[in-house]
Amino acid sequence: MPTDDTYTECNFTKLYTVEIPPRDKWTNDQMYVEEGSHIWYTDGSKKGNDVGCGIYGERPKLRASVSMGRQASIFQAEVFAINKCVEINLDRNLRHQHIYINSDSQAALLALDSLESNSKLVQNCKTNLNALANSNKVTLRWVPGHSDITGNDEADELARKGADTPLIGPEPFCGFTKREAYSLLNNLEKRRAIDGWKFVRGQEHSKALIKPFNSRYAKELIGLKRHKICAVSRILTGHCKLNKHMFQLGLKQEATCRFCQETEETAMHILCSCGPLMSKRSIHLGRQVLQPYEVQDLTAQRIWNFLDSTGISKVI
Ligand SMILES: [Zn+2]
Repeated sequence: MPTDDTYTECNFTKLYTVEIPPRDKWTNDQMYVEEGSHIWYTDGSKKGNDVGCGIYGERPKLRASVSMGRQASIFQAEVFAINKCVEINLDRNLRHQHIYINSDSQAALLALDSLESNSKLVQNCKTNLNALANSNKVTLRWVPGHSDITGNDEADELARKGADTPLIGPEPFCGFTKREAYSLLNNLEKRRAIDGWKFVRGQEHSKALIKPFNSRYAKELIGLKRHKICAVSRILTGHCKLNKHMFQLGLKQEATCRFCQETEETAMHILCSCGPLMSKRSIHLGRQVLQPYEVQDLTAQRIWNFLDSTGISKVI
């Protein structure tokens, strides 16, 4: 796929200016605009995976929506909109005009203000801005989004319309960014890991109690003290010295639960339903009786607290 990343380019020529005024200057209607100047607003929008951008000309009047498909980033949409606006102005062969382009994306404006860039789209936009600013005065200005500023609201509306319209043509609309590639690969890896977990044979006990590919949980678990990690991972996988498992290994005569003497002592029984542990379960796990899938949402620390209160942590 074509990419947007390229060699870092340093460009010391910047004929246009970038302004990031304080928010209240806009909301108090104190933004100064030279008389007779051209005023534009641009915006990017993402709806689900669909991306689009909008260009709104306040003076002269113009409305344009562009559909950018499903693989562009919101940053690309913002820069693309500014670039499109600049191209529209270049086509008009303007001379000695003051052109304001307002965008609510500080990221896009800062990228265009920076001397360095490794994005083809940003580099192209800078070249076009310089070409336009060669014979005109060009100001890029930040405008706060969603602040009832008519021009910005119009551009936002046009950008949404762009995102709503299906793209005709090949994807990616703009080159692929490195970030996008990383995110795609991460999702692919995650899907593979979840599928692998789903289709692996056996492991019924672990599958019922552990949410697959949960990096937050893993982080929390390995952040605990070693003896807690041992106890929690043993109870969640069922590979622990509870009666049922020991009985299966031929190391105990009986598999019956030591607390209720009613059923087999499995990790799931202890965690979810053993009668005499109801009050401790209620205190530490929030409920007297749990469904196995509810264990998936408990933190490792809470599971440890419960195991510790029952004394099971010392056994397993
Ligand atoms: Zn029991």
